[in-house]
Amino acid sequence: PRVLNFFGIPIQNTSMAEAVDWLMAASDPSDPGRRASRQLAFVNPDCLNIAWRDADYRDALLASARVLPDGIGIHIGCRMQGLALRENVNGTDLFPLLCAAAAQQSRSLFLLGARPGIAAAAAEHMQQRYPALRVAGTRDGYFDAADEPAVIEQINQSGADILLVAFGAPRQDLWLQQHRQALKPPVRMGVGGLFDFYSG
Ligand code: UDP
Repeated sequence: PRVLNFFGIPIQNTSMAEAVDWLMAASDPSDPGRRASRQLAFVNPDCLNIAWRDADYRDALLASARVLPDGIGIHIGCRMQGLALRENVNGTDLFPLLCAAAAQQSRSLFLLGARPGIAAAAAEHMQQRYPALRVAGTRDGYFDAADEPAVIEQINQSGADILLVAFGAPRQDLWLQQHRQALKPPVRMGVGGLFDFYSG
């Protein structure tokens, strides 16, 4: 099946390449409809467990345009149901492919989250690997509620096409859902500990 249903959460049974194509299409500046729900989330079994108890998180996932299976857990869950998962489309493996496509098709990224300096280091690391990659801005994920409007302003002013938020699940997905009207980047995704992984 193209969509898998886990406890009422539809998970896309897709491939890494297809997910990147979707991200590029969804952030296409020439697409007038690109402000439609273009939120993307990655889920593992732990996330599904949280979604079962937390209605706000469940709503955030249900409001997402794409929910992708992160890690081996969903794969095992599928096998147990006799379903074939096409690919484990996790954020860590997707990120370099996304950066390559973004560099080639001129989409800019904003990296929000992780400890101070980490998002900037991850951005620099990826720009070394993909020199044409445009990073519209970075910001750490440790700010007060009072700074939230300024953070959103910084993101919007940057003109980024794709916003990656690394606060961990479910916080990042709840935050994206809460501020979906205010945030201008057409594509927004929660990416967990991704920047820590690519900062060194
Ligand atoms: N984080 C953040 N602000 C916070 C709490 C966490 O930016 O208030 C960051 C943290 O530094 C780390 C990421 O969120 O980079 C969480 O990573 P984790 O691997 O725990 O998330 P998961 O991938 O399990 O969702």
